[in-house]
Amino acid sequence: MNTRETLKSTKDGILEIGGVIATDLVKNYGTPLYVYDQDYIEKICLAFTSSLKNNYGDGVVSYASKAFCCKEIYRIIDKFGMHADIVSYGELLTAVQAGFNPKNLCFHGNNKSLTELNFAIENKIGCIVIDSLSEIDLIQSVCEDKNYVQNVLIRVNPGVEAHTHHYIQTAKIDSKFGFSILTNDAEEAILKVKNSKNLNLLGLHCHIGSQIFEAKSFVLAVEKMTDFYAYCKNNLDINFSTLNLGGGFGIYYSENDPKLTISDYENFVKIICDTLISCVAKKGINKPKLIIEPGRSIVGEAGITLYTAGNIKQIKNVKNYIAIDGGMFENPRFALYQAKYLVEIATKLNQPKTTKYSIAGKCCESGDLIAEDVCLPTAKEGDIIAVFSTGAYNYSMASNYNRNTVPPVVMVKDGKHRLIVKGQKPIDLLQYDI
Ligand code: PLP
Repeated sequence: MNTRETLKSTKDGILEIGGVIATDLVKNYGTPLYVYDQDYIEKICLAFTSSLKNNYGDGVVSYASKAFCCKEIYRIIDKFGMHADIVSYGELLTAVQAGFNPKNLCFHGNNKSLTELNFAIENKIGCIVIDSLSEIDLIQSVCEDKNYVQNVLIRVNPGVEAHTHHYIQTAKIDSKFGFSILTNDAEEAILKVKNSKNLNLLGLHCHIGSQIFEAKSFVLAVEKMTDFYAYCKNNLDINFSTLNLGGGFGIYYSENDPKLTISDYENFVKIICDTLISCVAKKGINKPKLIIEPGRSIVGEAGITLYTAGNIKQIKNVKNYIAIDGGMFENPRFALYQAKYLVEIATKLNQPKTTKYSIAGKCCESGDLIAEDVCLPTAKEGDIIAVFSTGAYNYSMASNYNRNTVPPVVMVKDGKHRLIVKGQKPIDLLQYDI
């Protein structure tokens, strides 16, 4: 198990999260249940914000809401002076309704609708990240109608793609997001925005990938982006004031991943800051305001999902399955890309792991698994199954497949638990049927 101060085993071998034992959570809220460790979220927020402040000064940590969006997360990140990025009307509405200042929001997406843009601009959103040429015309016309000048960034592809331990440098970009700086696509977009009188171009944005564990991917992105900033200064006479480097910091899901500590995240940010400071000096460009957009790393490891084991199916000489009361409707990541997770029986942490099980969801898809071939103590019906690092892209990717209901979300801290998102009831699912 991936233990920490707020995630441990009691002496009887029962999982304890934020000072609350798993059996109490299950008694109070039932299963499946999303549980978030607030202390861990706060520690990570502090690590990112303080490291950026200490090593760079003029910077912002902008939480990528897509990882986990609900009102409470906006209230928590707000305490750290963080901003947030949103990608839809729904995420924007959630932030606004939580009392989050729209000035601290940045709107991403490769196909923002007119309705979404109107809503964002009426709320005086801090920044919109432009993703296509047609979007430039659309935002310009919305702003012109409202006699409003909108701050914007342009999303570009620097020709660096990073995933997990590797990065690749590409000369040709095939991505549905942004404009390539390796062709003249980015330059064309920059000039078009510059000529749009209701758009104020602050700078450029890039996002090089996800589950990145090596700072050198970000170092390379900083080098490429500052090369391009110097090019724009020298050839287009444009001095950008802001650089947004996106997110992508990795987290620990299973033994295949390195375990980053809080100070590793601080160090990650320090390396990015140091590289940017030195590139700016070397290339003679203005020191831009630096924005980073971590999502997964803020909430991923803070989340644990609890289930109740149903039938245990033993297929002799083939496989053992534990069927749980959740599945791809509340965690589709295994079905989507065979994501790996650590699994435990939450009341048997002291017992020897003698048997291999696959954890099967209850949806009508053979690919509906949560984990495959994990070693556990002998399981029986009614056991509480805990799956770790489920805080990012689980609740936010949940669906009502097979008309299952999205489970409740609970926050734990200092031995106390509180409901932050109610679970759906089957009758809720009928409210749109006619
Ligand atoms: N910023 C942008 C533009 C993204 O597309 C994403 C993820 O897809 C993120 C930030 C957050 O990435 P992560 O959750 O890996 O930190």
